[in-house]
Amino acid sequence: MAEHVGLCADAPLGCPCRGDAAIHEDRSRALAEARAAAAEPVECPECGAATTPVSIATWGNCRACRTAHSRSTHPLRW
Ligand SMILES: [Zn+2]
Ligand SMILES: [Zn+2]
Repeated sequence: MAEHVGLCADAPLGCPCRGDAAIHEDRSRALAEARAAAAEPVECPECGAATTPVSIATWGNCRACRTAHSRSTHPLRW
């Protein structure tokens, strides 16, 4: 298993911990709660579209918003 170089396994999923266990724990808990409530759609705080609590907990907005942000902040990756 490769050593962690400041990034955790959830980094591609938007985890901001960069190896900080406390931050990672907080996020894991929020994600677990979001998954438990996944049956109830919530509104995206940015565009108001219905999305899943998991999406909000993971990225802070819906999938469409995340895609739009990725395009604007990392244009070279798209
Ligand atoms: Zn993490
Ligand atoms: Zn949105």
